[in-house]
Amino acid sequence: MIQIKKIKKLIVGNWKMNPSSLSEAKKIALEIKKTMKNMTKTGIKTVRKTQVVICPPFVYLGSVGGMKTTSFFLGAQDAFYESMGAYTGEVSYCSLPQFGVSHVILGHSERRAKGETNEIINKKVRSVVGEGMTAIVCVGESVRDTEGIYLHILRSQIVAALYEVNKKLLDHVVIAYEPIWAIGAKVAMNSRDVHEISIYIKKVLREMYGPLGDSVRILYGGSVDSTNAREIVYEGNVGGLLVGRASLVPKDFSLIVREIDTEDCIEK
Ligand code: PEP
Repeated sequence: MIQIKKIKKLIVGNWKMNPSSLSEAKKIALEIKKTMKNMTKTGIKTVRKTQVVICPPFVYLGSVGGMKTTSFFLGAQDAFYESMGAYTGEVSYCSLPQFGVSHVILGHSERRAKGETNEIINKKVRSVVGEGMTAIVCVGESVRDTEGIYLHILRSQIVAALYEVNKKLLDHVVIAYEPIWAIGAKVAMNSRDVHEISIYIKKVLREMYGPLGDSVRILYGGSVDSTNAREIVYEGNVGGLLVGRASLVPKDFSLIVREIDTEDCIEK
């Protein structure tokens, strides 16, 4: 008998280097908390089918984590792979769980653009999953060529990021596909192309881990808003979304969650 595993959809809000004040950060987090709670109260049972993670800048993690909410999980936007030492400006992966951090975005294209290599990302992934947190590994091409070189780029990013990551830890790995050309753009990738890529990523993961590769959730990121979220997730057949700009606007972010949360959470 074929077992269909029920997996909750995952929606991750990446605040990037925003906002510029703690009071504004608290305000946004509180609004998100309120709207998530209201959604559950209305009886639509919405938020239960979807896991929500918000990733504020490091400096706000203590305050946002201190809200002790069950409405969302707390994520960091990066983590350094050494536990402590002479690494000025870095933030150790070991220091994050005490603030309630359960997820960490790694290898975002904005960090790769600043020189983060596949090798560094791999070290970070291993540290983060080894500490019991979930690594949200960002991959994505900068341009879509007609020869399909972008597929090789994707494959090599995934293979390198997961090098020596034990299959027992795959539950702690999420792949966020973010085509760089769609980040901060006017339009997102169309859902048919998202579907193609999700099939390709699943194939790469199966080659690496066998059937266990199917347990890795795949997200899409790049200009998601409340008007395209549903189509991207359900026609693109992905396990959720990584949201940038819209995650800073509580009303928009909650609408995205609502759009996703109305369907059953079975992944094909
Ligand atoms: C991102 O930077 O990860 C992102 C998806 O941004 P946006 O939603 O603003 O395109």
